[in-house]
Amino acid sequence: MKPTEAYIAARFAEYNALFFGGKLPVPIFRSGNARSMLGHLRYRRKRSLLGRVTYSDFVLTVSSRFDMPEEEVQDTIIHEMIHLYILSSGIRDTSAHGRVFRTWMQKINTEYGRHITISHRFTRDELAADTHLRKHCFCVCELPDGRKGITVTAESAVFSIYRQLPKVFTLRSCRWYGSTDPYFNRFPHVRTPKIFIVDGEELEPYLKSSVELTCDGSSIRPV
Ligand SMILES: [Zn+2]
Repeated sequence: MKPTEAYIAARFAEYNALFFGGKLPVPIFRSGNARSMLGHLRYRRKRSLLGRVTYSDFVLTVSSRFDMPEEEVQDTIIHEMIHLYILSSGIRDTSAHGRVFRTWMQKINTEYGRHITISHRFTRDELAADTHLRKHCFCVCELPDGRKGITVTAESAVFSIYRQLPKVFTLRSCRWYGSTDPYFNRFPHVRTPKIFIVDGEELEPYLKSSVELTCDGSSIRPV
């Protein structure tokens, strides 16, 4: 299933009553097109004059990019709800998925037979199943320790990333390519310089079918 906002809202109401005594604040629900996460909780962080941190304006997004089993959609909603519970009640956890998070996760898994996990990233199979054709403009770089990295840019940010990448990172080499291969759908299209480490061998065949590009700072075209 691909969850609608109405579906997410209905499950939220049900689980809020069942697991959290109906105490969770109701966020805005979104059914999103996220490329790397199944679920996501966005919020605003405020610090008072006395240094107390509070969280508000929650937005709960579940990806509708892939057709997922309903149970996985539900587990994703509950995962984000545990984040919401911790943030909205002012509890301090040891990390993003720290001790408090894990305790709640295990409790709900055991008592209600669920299969919530820490990681809510897509699996390799799910990524491989994404066959949508899009244009990708990306830089493949080599780091000083020999590892390969990739930066797929948002269309509007190609030139700024082209300028900034070698300033922000120390790189042995930096090559630009264009491709419509769905393989590259798995990487986020960034607007600020970020490098994702990739397996050079896995990448190689996709580079062969890509077009190498040259950039002069204001235009980018095939070599
Ligand atoms: Zn999480």
